[in-house]
Order: sequence, then structure tokens, then C-alpha cells
Amino acid sequence: MEKVAKKIQMVDLKSQYEKIKTEIDAAIQNVINNTAFINGPEVKAFQAELEKYLNVKHVIPCANGTDALQIAMMALGLKPRDEVITADFTYVATAEVIALLGLKPVLVDVLPDTFDIDIAAIEKAITPKTKAIVPVHLFGQCADMEAIMALAKKYSLYVIEDTAQAIGADYLYKDGTKKKAGTIGTIGCTSFFPSKNLGCYGDGGAIFTNDDALAAKIRMIANHGQSVQYVHDSIGVNSRLDSIQAAILRVKLRDLDNYATARNKAANYYDKAFANHPKIKTPARAKYSNHVFHQYTLQLNGIDRSALKEFLAQRDIPAMVYYPIPLHLQKAYLDPRYKAGDFPVTEKLCASVISLPMHTELDEETLKYITDSVLEFIK
Ligand SMILES: *Cc1c(COP(=O)(O)O)cnc(C)c1O
Repeated sequence: MEKVAKKIQMVDLKSQYEKIKTEIDAAIQNVINNTAFINGPEVKAFQAELEKYLNVKHVIPCANGTDALQIAMMALGLKPRDEVITADFTYVATAEVIALLGLKPVLVDVLPDTFDIDIAAIEKAITPKTKAIVPVHLFGQCADMEAIMALAKKYSLYVIEDTAQAIGADYLYKDGTKKKAGTIGTIGCTSFFPSKNLGCYGDGGAIFTNDDALAAKIRMIANHGQSVQYVHDSIGVNSRLDSIQAAILRVKLRDLDNYATARNKAANYYDKAFANHPKIKTPARAKYSNHVFHQYTLQLNGIDRSALKEFLAQRDIPAMVYYPIPLHLQKAYLDPRYKAGDFPVTEKLCASVISLPMHTELDEETLKYITDSVLEFIK
């Protein structure tokens, strides 16, 4: 098979940059010219533009997505040993900050089609000590927020949305209205890590809320617990988005919806190529969310995943396994409460998923080369 000319990458940030180079370079130079590197006008402008885009009252920028989750949990005043429910099938950061703050991560399984947190499993895991639910909008699609908010109301729980992988996605209510991912729960948290759908050129993150008092508290905690300079009302952290990153994000935010369209185009191509294949399950679209395809993740059935990965690598096609080990089987999170077999869906997914290249710059020639190669291996 003829190889494609351009090097295939899981995420092609270089080609994306080339298209916006003039604007990005000018934006960076402008920050340097003004030497307002920290908390400069670019940060405030980005914050206001993101608030408008998301239709949320408060965006509080911070240093990264992990900090966003940590600051959110600190702002809610959660106490050691309070229980926080989250999905077993996620990036480690979600559970990490829960454990780091001395809270108790309570893991639940996910649904086999959408990879979203299992609503029935959440309700079963709720105890008198449960204080919060952290749904993860995994791979670019919202968890079932309407059902989660109903549970939160019934049991008086906070909801912290981890929308690091789904910024820009719409949650679709049964009545036909919609809201942006991360603006439905008590607090939303996102990451601007370069490979995320809205990525900067370094580290970055943000916290969203519609609650004025909570927003003030989040701002204070992210800034050493001070509301007035050198007056510290609570123990905080130092977590800032720097001005150069904010200036870059302002340029890229304008393209965010176009980026989602490009990702959907690639996903539709993959879907079509693998449709009805008995050994491949393409990612399901939830009826309550649109998809912004942070990842395009297949489930393999009766295929040697490592051999496929190796076969693709020989053709210069990268593929990744997100995530190979469930949280409850990670050494750092081993807990006598959990054992192998406890979360069968997550365990099966960890053994059978594979993610193909997914970004904003995939052309048909590349997609054809990738899908033909996968199909040639699988037959
Ligand atoms: C990337 C990610 C994070 C952490 O974001 P960082 O900016 O890398 O700290 C948290 N949760 C999920 C689901 C992520 O994908």
C-alpha cells in the first residue's frame, strides 16, 4: 500500500499551527511587547470570551486541568474521608486529586457503548458520607447530566464535571434545550493541555461555575487563598494561566467549533469504513450529547490488539490505548474495597479499546490509508 506523504500523528498540532501562524505569532509577540506576563489583559479577555462561548457566569483560568479539579474540590469545602464518586474508566487525574485531598474516591463502572459513567451504579454507590459526583465527559461526549443532576438533587450532592476532553460539546436535554459541557453541574473543570480540543502551547486549565459566591471562593483559592493582597483567608494554591497561553487560546477559541466539525468529519469517515464489521465496534453516539471527538476509540472483538498496534506502527500509523489499566487495579489506587472483576465493563474496555489518530488536520487520503490498513489486518 502506498504510504501517505505527511507523517501521521495521533494529534497534528504543527499543521494546525501553520494555518493560524500569523495570528498566533502576533498574539504572542503582543504579550511580550507589553510584558504583562501574569494576569495581563489577555487573561481577562480570554476569560470573558470563554464565558460568552460557554454561556456560563464565571470562568476562572488556572494552571492546568488537574489543578482545576483540585481547586474545585477545595472550594466546595469537602472534608477528609468525604466520599466522592467517579468513573473507574478515566484519566488518573480525576481520582488523583480526590485522594490527594484526603477524600475517599468511590469508583463506579461505565456503560459499554458510550463509555460514560453508569447512572444506576452511581446511585448504588451513594452512602451518607457521599458529598460529590465527578462525571467525566470521556473522549468528547457528555455523560448523562440530566440523570446525574437528578441524583444530585435527590441526595444533596455536588457535581463537578470533568470536561477536560469535551470542551465545546453540547449536552442535549430531553426537552430539546442544550447547554455546554461543564456548565451544568456545581462546577466544571477543563484542561488546555496542547492535545486537548482547545489546547494551548503549554499547560493551562479553567474552572466554570454559575454560582457567584463559589466563583469568588475559587478565585481566592487559586490565588494563595487571598481576596485582598497579603490577606489570606484560607489555605490556597498558586495556579495561574499565563498571558501567553491566554493569548494563544483567544485565537484558537474562535476556531473551536470548526475544529469540532473537522473531528466529526474524520469520525464519520472512520464510522463508515468500519460499519457493521463483526470484529470492530465503532464509538456510540449518546442521544443526550453531541460529540466533539477528543478521541476516536474502537472496541475490538477477537483481535490481538498489540499485534494490530504493531502492524499499524510498521506502516507509520500511530494508535494508542486509552486507558490500559482500570483505576481500581492501578497500584496507587489499590484498595481492599476493590478487586479484579468488580467493574467488568471498564475491565473489558481496558482490554479491548484502541484509539486511532484524531485531530483537526486529517484528510481523506490519510483516513483511507488508516482504515484500509486496519481492515487489512483484521480482514
Ligand atoms: C487531561 C485530563 C485531565 C488533566 O488535565 P491536565 O491539564 O493535564 O492537568 C483531567 N481529566 C481528564 C479526563 C483529562 O483528560
